[in-house]
Amino acid sequence: MSVIIIHHRKKCIACHYCVDVAPDLFYMDEQDGKASLINSTEKKGIFTVKILSQFADTAQQAQAVCPMKIIDVRLLTRKFTNFSDD
Ligand code: SF4
Repeated sequence: MSVIIIHHRKKCIACHYCVDVAPDLFYMDEQDGKASLINSTEKKGIFTVKILSQFADTAQQAQAVCPMKIIDVRLLTRKFTNFSDD
């Protein structure tokens, strides 16, 4: 199983909740104060990263606590080949 996290970072209000529950996945950026997704790649302001399935529960906790609902966790049973937000 592949796990993808999608972070719509522009709308982040810097509440810190995702970092509190998932410090292995998110950190607070000292430059603009918003949360950032560790090891992610950016396309059109949307950050994505593929993570190990063992972190799926943690990622889903971050998704659940985000008050802006800007963290999306997708569990893929087929091999991850490409991601596009288009
Ligand atoms: S929980 Fe959501 S709004 Fe709060 S810091 Fe994390 S991404 Fe930003």
